[in-house]
Amino acid sequence: MKRRLVLRLIGGLLSASIARLLGWASTVLGEEPGTTIKPPVPRPVYPTSAIIGDEVMPHSTTTCFLCGDVMTGRGIDQIMPQPSQPDIYEGYMRSAKGYVELAEQANGAIEQPVDYPYIWGEALNVLQQEAPQVRLVNLEAAVTTSDEYWRGKGINYRMHPDNIRCLTAAAIQCCSLANNHVLDWGYSGLGDTLATLKQAGIHSVGAGETLSAAQSAAAIHTAPGNRLIVFGCGSPSSGIPPDWAARVDKPGINMLDEFSAQGLAAFATQVRAIKRPGDVVVCSIHWGGNWGYDIPASRRRFAHRLIDRAAVDIVHGHSSHHPLGIEVYRDKLILYGCGDFINDYEGIGGHEDFRGELSLMYFVAVDPRSGNLARLKLVPLQINQLQLHSATAQDASWLHDTLNREGQHLGTRVQLNEDNTMLLHWGSAA
Ligand SMILES: [Zn+2]
Repeated sequence: MKRRLVLRLIGGLLSASIARLLGWASTVLGEEPGTTIKPPVPRPVYPTSAIIGDEVMPHSTTTCFLCGDVMTGRGIDQIMPQPSQPDIYEGYMRSAKGYVELAEQANGAIEQPVDYPYIWGEALNVLQQEAPQVRLVNLEAAVTTSDEYWRGKGINYRMHPDNIRCLTAAAIQCCSLANNHVLDWGYSGLGDTLATLKQAGIHSVGAGETLSAAQSAAAIHTAPGNRLIVFGCGSPSSGIPPDWAARVDKPGINMLDEFSAQGLAAFATQVRAIKRPGDVVVCSIHWGGNWGYDIPASRRRFAHRLIDRAAVDIVHGHSSHHPLGIEVYRDKLILYGCGDFINDYEGIGGHEDFRGELSLMYFVAVDPRSGNLARLKLVPLQINQLQLHSATAQDASWLHDTLNREGQHLGTRVQLNEDNTMLLHWGSAA
């Protein structure tokens, strides 16, 4: 027993120092290796090693922060230090400033320009406390100065490239771009978005200059021998125009049709070509509509197949403007809809029952040896004055009740803690 204890201690020290030596190097597959990204603050602390037989096996929990739609265009872009031209081509609104005015009418004047961290508000404190190894969001805006708005689409989200600092302010490491807004400002807008993210040291997945670039995963080292592998894809069910699909020689989105067995098989081949022991694979997918709790049986089946056939460990679903029920299938996490995280919808009426102003932070911990979910912690926030704030006890309780109502048929339950955070229970613990 003594020998095991000594080995355990040595293992702990070894893995911690190796982690320090390696730092936060990471590689985007499909691009030149060795691309490094800035570390988030603070650095993660790797747990001690395990001992199997007499061998020291480095294993730690792989942790990540996930959230839904981060819509930094339009009204959000207008309050930042370098706003885009405010012209937009919506039937309802002709200036992006109009959305700032709506928010101000609802909740009071916003002193402008705000600084880059402003929009994250309380979320920055929570991120610092939780210290996830990876921070992944669905970025739902083109980051560009392009004026080539997509004709006939009606809504066009654009953020000025200088405002990319709002993402680095929160140390976001990876953005999924496979959504129905990344091409709002045309192919030049997509090109600018890809270039700006790359220059800022942020991985992008799910869209690219070619099909193979759009299909490439981001591989982010989390601990010695462990990586979080992120694939981004978008389903036509989320309203992505079909001609936005990337082709061999055409820029666009990595489309993954939920009803195509062929598409699933091709995706499974891609994942299996990359995944190795110690990897946790995330499929970040934009699917389904914006409002409503219904999860079609076909979508559930598809999510299960992503796990069964494509070796996915975390299904990170988004598109719904409010959080949806959560499932744990064969110990793998399925988030059907994370809800909007940051948007400029304040003051826009019409769907109050869904409480779209309530956002959720998802802190996921996975055992990298199995890919099984170890823990899911949820932190509720509220958007007010285009900034995230702590949710009140009443609002946290509303989210708790909603997630439990929607999780019942999926076999999950959340427990509300005194600090308004929630923990997921599943299986026999649900
Ligand atoms: Zn969307």
